[in-house]
Amino acid sequence: MNILNVENLSKKFSDEYVLNNISFTLKKGESLYIVGENGSGKTTLVRLLLGLLHSTSGSIEFEGVKRHQIGYLPQQNEIQSDFPATSKEIIMSGFLNNVPFCFYTKKQKEKAISVAEKLHLTNILDTSFPELSGGQKQRVLLARALCSAGEILLLDEPMTALDPLASAEFYALLEQLKKDGVTLIIISHDVECAVKYGDKILHLGKNETFFGLSHEYCHSELGKTMLSKGHHHD
Ligand code: ADP
Repeated sequence: MNILNVENLSKKFSDEYVLNNISFTLKKGESLYIVGENGSGKTTLVRLLLGLLHSTSGSIEFEGVKRHQIGYLPQQNEIQSDFPATSKEIIMSGFLNNVPFCFYTKKQKEKAISVAEKLHLTNILDTSFPELSGGQKQRVLLARALCSAGEILLLDEPMTALDPLASAEFYALLEQLKKDGVTLIIISHDVECAVKYGDKILHLGKNETFFGLSHEYCHSELGKTMLSKGHHHD
């Protein structure tokens, strides 16, 4: 069963199409990496998926999850990294989407604890957010996103501010979540990692678009061009 069906999605601002006839599908527990140069429409697609923008034409259909139940991890530069709260408070705030008041239920507290364990955050729950390292901050925000919606996560360039070690740890955690059945949509600049970790690739280009399995992307003209630009290929 597909958890997400996007069909012939287009969006134009004024007279210019930013997204033109984009189609892709995603099954539960799959990971989709969205790559493409700056200005190719990645953020616009994220905003459409989150329901923050209306499409010009085409459809976005979620099966079994509601659009507002997507866990979202925004780009690092949109996060107030000196926010004065503890890790635990930030994680728990993920539940505020779903309740109109500020008291958490026992079930929510238990969920937060189990998510924190899964993401190796137990020993920093009482640490103040601004004191955390970049990698720890990202894990806290991932935990928050998981509390707000554990079925499907949309991550906007989650590795950008991380050093190689923190980034490797973060990829490992995402792999673990995927095994638990979490569906992942990840915007990435790193095409090498996208094909390494992604089940599927959506490449938004100014002139051409690709959607398919990672290994198909590797063998496509577009994929070959992108990968030959990397440092690890000759
Ligand atoms: P990316 O995230 O891949 O860098 P964006 O989705 O941010 O791409 O932007 C794609 C194009 O759409 C850019 O040319 C941008 O100027 C334009 N754009 C984005 N949002 C708006 C808007 N609200 N009004 C007009 N143009 C926009």
